[in-house]
Amino acid sequence: MRDLLQEDLFDPRQRHDLPLREYMDLTIDRMKAIFRHGLVDNDMWMGRPQEHAFRSMCDVMGLTGAFDFALTSTITDHLIAGSALFNHGSPEQVDRYHDEITQMHEVYAFCCTEIGGGTNLREIRTTVSWNHAEQCFTLDTPTDAACKFWIGNIKHAATVGMVLARLVIDGEDLGHHWFRVPLRNEENGPALPGITILSCDPKGGIQANQVGGARFTGVRLPREALMGRYSSVDADGRFSSTLPDAGTRFVKSIETFVQERIFPLSAGARACELAAHLTWRFAAHRETRGAPRRRTLLDEPLYLERLYQVQLRSLALRLLERAVVRGVERDWHTDPGRKNMHVLTATGKCGSWLVLDVLAACREMCGSQGFHGLNQIVTLRTDFEVNVTFAGDNSVMAYQVARNAMSSDRFATRTPVTLPQRVEKDLVDTWRGRQGGSFSHADAVVLVHARMLDLILAEHDAEPMVPQQVMDDLVADFAAHKLREPHRPVAADREKIDFLAELLAPLPELVTAPMVDDSYLTELTSSARSVSMTLPVQGR
Ligand SMILES: Cc1cc2nc3c(=O)[nH]c(=O)nc-3n(C[C@H](O)[C@H](O)[C@H](O)COP(=O)(O)OP(=O)(O)OC[C@H]3O[C@@H](n4cnc5c(N)ncnc54)[C@H](O)[C@@H]3O)c2cc1C
Repeated sequence: MRDLLQEDLFDPRQRHDLPLREYMDLTIDRMKAIFRHGLVDNDMWMGRPQEHAFRSMCDVMGLTGAFDFALTSTITDHLIAGSALFNHGSPEQVDRYHDEITQMHEVYAFCCTEIGGGTNLREIRTTVSWNHAEQCFTLDTPTDAACKFWIGNIKHAATVGMVLARLVIDGEDLGHHWFRVPLRNEENGPALPGITILSCDPKGGIQANQVGGARFTGVRLPREALMGRYSSVDADGRFSSTLPDAGTRFVKSIETFVQERIFPLSAGARACELAAHLTWRFAAHRETRGAPRRRTLLDEPLYLERLYQVQLRSLALRLLERAVVRGVERDWHTDPGRKNMHVLTATGKCGSWLVLDVLAACREMCGSQGFHGLNQIVTLRTDFEVNVTFAGDNSVMAYQVARNAMSSDRFATRTPVTLPQRVEKDLVDTWRGRQGGSFSHADAVVLVHARMLDLILAEHDAEPMVPQQVMDDLVADFAAHKLREPHRPVAADREKIDFLAELLAPLPELVTAPMVDDSYLTELTSSARSVSMTLPVQGR
């Protein structure tokens, strides 16, 4: 990935100079380059032939996130669509489409969300009906609310969509199924008959991710379009499935959304490390008093408090990411572990809240320079805005983790040892004491942060990266700000800050902000960036 970042194709400034459409096309080209170099593909997911490369794929996805989160998102969209095919296709379908997905001969989109439904996937409205006369399926969008929307890659590039829809035969709703739907004959070409592509622009970030929508009107699909691992329809329209009912088919259809939840966390962790680094570099030369008694922001104790906090939170994210990846690798192939996988990745996904905290703080700590697009932080911030609601809405994830904590009650028979474990036990005991076991939104958010801290501490125990004092500070910050625990002052000093700055240093190729040293004074005031205006002649 490092080599790629040095190529012209990955010149980061292009995002500011290109028209939007060209920037979108460039992002597709960058995705293809990453695939061509074998850095990422579906065979590296757990359960696939090259799962030994899972961790390195997460690393690459993390780096793309710090580079341009629109690129991470673009790749993720293709990967999730591929995962839907690999998990729900029959062995023949998997064989047939394997190379076009892993070698990206076709760009895929996954078409799940409907504009009127969002998270409520159980009630999606898109239908695929069996047409007896023509012995084929017909794909339809019955209402405006059923339009597929927020679909990455679909706007111009994707030639194939993996569509989640209800299968209907003779008026009977047989539940959720995945279909492989050709969208265009060639990348960037017109949509095929019956398909209207919609736009989701303008949007509030990740501009280069080609997010769009689709309305389907009587789109003919062959029988093989139905993913046949669990269900099939014969030439006479007879349906059979190894899954007993529509409810089970729904649960199975969305089980595919697990591993990709790590990518937003990896990307967010790298983005925070980059932002914390840029802030530290800026603070090292931004003077608060000139010579002879020169001081910079790094000499200001109040500033150090803020800087240390963003470093501690970036460290927390790195440890959380490592803990989640470690957990997925360890447990993927065990039955109880697989059951816990959703809760583990949902907990990690909620780390994206912390990402926004860090990016907002860094932007503020660099003042106006933090607001300059070339200085990277504000673009990271706007790009990561979406991270808290897509790939599993954070609040919804937190509620699911809270419900799981209540039903599993993991401290019923053992005593909590650490602070986050005690917080979890107290919350769960309180909830269980209530009629119906109810909890508030705020409680669920605290619970999921307790779970995060529990993972972070376990990761530190497994492979310590920092002295205990720094870990104690991290816990104190988490406790006061995320777990509603009493505040314990955290002492920030240059030694700890320099240590964390070194530990969390990003790849040099990712650092392009002029403000990292005082050469920004020249760059941002050079004539190339100045605007000349002819003023009207005065005094006539
Ligand atoms: C840039 C972008 C790219 C995307 N890419 C894709 C893609 O490629 N393919 C695809 O299929 N989808 C994609 N999505 C859709 C994404 O997965 C959805 O955002 C997600 O499913 C949540 O739906 P929603 O955003 O409509 O929010 P909603 O589900 O409508 O949620 C709105 C609010 O209600 C809350 N809420 C929701 N349900 C409940 C509940 N039961 N109880 C209490 N509160 C609740 C949420 O916390 C949230 O605050 C993308 C979205 C974006 C913005």
